[in-house]
Amino acid sequence: MINLDFIDKKIVNRETVILDGATGTELERRGVTMNSAAWSAEAILGAPEVVRAVHADYIRAGADVITCNSFSLARHMLLRAGLEGRFRRLNADAVKIAVAAREGANRPVAVAGSIAPTTFCDDPNLCYPPDANAFAWYHEQAEILAEAGADILIIEMIEDIRQGSLAVEAALRTGLPVWLGFSCVKNAAGEIMLWEQGHTLRDGVEAIAGIGGDAAFIMHTETRDAAEAFAILKSRWRGRIGVYAHSGVFVMPNWLFTDIITPEAYAAEAKKWIGLGAEIVGGCCGIGPEHIRRLKALPA
Ligand SMILES: [Zn+2]
Repeated sequence: MINLDFIDKKIVNRETVILDGATGTELERRGVTMNSAAWSAEAILGAPEVVRAVHADYIRAGADVITCNSFSLARHMLLRAGLEGRFRRLNADAVKIAVAAREGANRPVAVAGSIAPTTFCDDPNLCYPPDANAFAWYHEQAEILAEAGADILIIEMIEDIRQGSLAVEAALRTGLPVWLGFSCVKNAAGEIMLWEQGHTLRDGVEAIAGIGGDAAFIMHTETRDAAEAFAILKSRWRGRIGVYAHSGVFVMPNWLFTDIITPEAYAAEAKKWIGLGAEIVGGCCGIGPEHIRRLKALPA
């Protein structure tokens, strides 16, 4: 674990904190095969050197925080992939690969452990963790990531109020800083909804913000909708705040790299988010090291 004061110092000095870009889709772009049930999970076993190279490239691009490849390592995802027996080892290794990648960096870089209360399944009612186990499973993952050396836990893809709340509560139990990532989509009526579309983002933030957490993000949201979603988040969140949006389309288990926003255009969008008050920016699916390099180069 490292001292995270550098993040607060940057924000106080009005310097934007830079996150990495996508991990899973970047692995895919580099030729790593994705699992049909658990997406990027197997990369930890099959291509650890590529995972490490992705992290290292983001550090070179200027990331202050890198997120380890544990997005697909929730117990409910590994169960469907038949990998649940490797739950502990995969999560611990995901952190260790990211920690190894930051060795040699000449400045502080934080490692975030990702916990995703989401599912790659067509019927979320069947594919989220069973009610009786959900809290315990998220908590177990949070503890493993913390013990392995994560500096921050980031709850990614908050798309459903119940699952998101349980994952946030579980992560807070570790005592590590907890960051919340709200994933949004604009519906046909033009409302910004949580990804599952059962609730508006406004209701989602109101329900979950009171539980706790140190920073909140609009993440895994179409780049063009992120500013509007960010304004809603900002009106209801009092902690640190940021955006990491996506570009492209997911057709399980692959991200389609068609019409990916250029690094220049993505940086121009990020400039808008920073103007609206975003303190931390990075990228989600489809956003790679070159995009992050452009974010880093934005004038303060
Ligand atoms: Zn994403």
